[in-house]
Amino acid sequence: MQLGQLKKICLSSVATLSLLAAGVLSAAEVNVYSAREENLIKPILDRFSEQTGITVNLITGGADELITRMELEGANSPADLLLTVDVGRLHRAEAMGLLQPVESEVLTSQIPEQYRDEDNRWFAVSLRSRVIVYDKERVDPAELSTYEDLADPKWAGKVCIRSSSNIYNQSLTASMVSHHGAEATEEWARGLVANMARNPQGGDRDQIAAVAVGQCGLAVVNTYYLAGMLNATSSDQVEQAQAVAVFWPNQDGRGAHINVSGAGVSEHAPNRAEAIQLLEYMVSDEAQTWYAEANNEYPVRTDVPVSDTLASWGEFKADPLALDELGLHNAEAVRVMDRAGWR
Ligand code: FE
Repeated sequence: MQLGQLKKICLSSVATLSLLAAGVLSAAEVNVYSAREENLIKPILDRFSEQTGITVNLITGGADELITRMELEGANSPADLLLTVDVGRLHRAEAMGLLQPVESEVLTSQIPEQYRDEDNRWFAVSLRSRVIVYDKERVDPAELSTYEDLADPKWAGKVCIRSSSNIYNQSLTASMVSHHGAEATEEWARGLVANMARNPQGGDRDQIAAVAVGQCGLAVVNTYYLAGMLNATSSDQVEQAQAVAVFWPNQDGRGAHINVSGAGVSEHAPNRAEAIQLLEYMVSDEAQTWYAEANNEYPVRTDVPVSDTLASWGEFKADPLALDELGLHNAEAVRVMDRAGWR
């Protein structure tokens, strides 16, 4: 750039804008690698840009694909913030050295300790529980109690649950490993497999649909899938969702299994300060309310109200297990499920 050009920048904001447009100068920006669908995240990113003037470049992809991409890009990765679901994945990214610690008073004061990494390399922004949904016509909820109980022979041929390759089931099983050890968890998984109404197939919505048509009596699913179906535009989905009810497991014990969506600042973030600013924005009142409602999740902040659908299921006791444990026991959980014949 010529000296003359520099003077013009100082003298004229119009000149600055045109240089920005021409790409000669760069404005503040942040690059987000997001495993969440664009429509679930874009509106709050736009709002952040409006308020801060920071441009958000959004790259959307599958979680494992984005993590692999960050690994391959190494120190040259443009990624500033990784946004994904399930602590099993956040832990994986952390273990691969892809996330850096962040010291932020905002994040540590707003996010309960169990919902952030102990080294502050990832932070939850929303919560979901993995619950039991049951056929309102054919299953007496008084018969239901715990995840452990799903291995009881009284549920033979009644249980629908998706495959063991699914990270949500891996995390649920990892929580069992953390609470009971691998051996007891394997025994539980064998009992669960023996009670399956059919070989694992489809996603969580498919399990709800299978309960609705009487193929199984109960299913294990994430809360937002049921809430999404209840609020769907398709009347078929609404009807299927209305055929089932939520049962909160383990309420007399440790509480229902919790997982998260969350984010971490990339190890090589070229725009570290902006990434932290965005992460802090995600726990603001405005972002928490919108983000949780958009995907029917629970806000990570306890002082932000839940959506009407979630409120209709009542309050529940959540397993206080530190979520790091789910990542730490993931590999063991996968081996346990495999040995138990959970396909
Ligand atoms: Fe999901």
